[in-house]
Amino acid sequence: MAALVELPEVATESKIQVRALTREYDHGHQRTLALDNIDLEVRRGEFLCLVGPSGCGKSTLLHMIAGLDKPTSGQLLIDGSTIDGPGPDRILIFQELGLFPWLNVLENVEFGLKVRGVPRKERRERARHFIQLVHLSQFEHSYVHQLSGGMKQRVSLARALCLDPGVLLMDEPFTALDAQTRDLLHDELERIWAETGQTIIFVTHNVREAVRLGDRVVVMSYRPGRIKREFAIELGRSRSLEDPEVTLQAKEILAELRSEIDKAVHAEYKNA
Ligand code: ADP
Repeated sequence: MAALVELPEVATESKIQVRALTREYDHGHQRTLALDNIDLEVRRGEFLCLVGPSGCGKSTLLHMIAGLDKPTSGQLLIDGSTIDGPGPDRILIFQELGLFPWLNVLENVEFGLKVRGVPRKERRERARHFIQLVHLSQFEHSYVHQLSGGMKQRVSLARALCLDPGVLLMDEPFTALDAQTRDLLHDELERIWAETGQTIIFVTHNVREAVRLGDRVVVMSYRPGRIKREFAIELGRSRSLEDPEVTLQAKEILAELRSEIDKAVHAEYKNA
């Protein structure tokens, strides 16, 4: 049976607000409306999952919250202030991870603190604390090529947490992992979220994964990307992908998503 997780208090106030956000891309003679009139509010400490077919704008939205891209129109706020570029209050974690192969685990994790000018002793202590949190203490002197996919994800998580961002933006982080490693990382991420009180926005195309992890699952439509429907996940924690309630809830969400997946497949077929 899955362990009980002590939940963080989810505050009612907004951490992230997305208001009437639109993003259009210009491809010479053609325009793509990637995101259309997105309104979304994420509460402090919430675990929000975004699902939708490939090409519906999930990554675009996440990149804009990260401050790496700008909206064509609309507003993006964090703690009530406009997002105007990347900031220390948000970190994007993606599949490729961006770890430095010439640095060991400890050096990778403390890298951001070094850039911020944190003195060596303090950054070592802080890095070690988070390496321990992700259960990698025995590997702090290992290099990236010596680690498994799951271990690399943990390093990436420790490196992000070390900077205490407040918001973790996760773009399909576990897609490339085998099922067993992914299950383990779901447990770890949930525990770490509960312990650190981070607000998490987690993008996935895997509906079960979204139900396993999220307080809320937001379904996006295919081109233009709009918010189609939201589902509050009121199942107890910790959940497992195999729980019948998770399966049932995932089925309900998948029914909503099915027509969007069909649209995406058709569009790909037409473009092929
Ligand atoms: P998802 O993450 O849901 O798979 P994306 O956010 O990657 O979707 O893409 C949404 C749409 O925006 C796609 O049609 C994609 O081609 C387009 N798009 C994303 N980024 C760019 C870009 N830099 N230039 C042009 N088009 C883009």
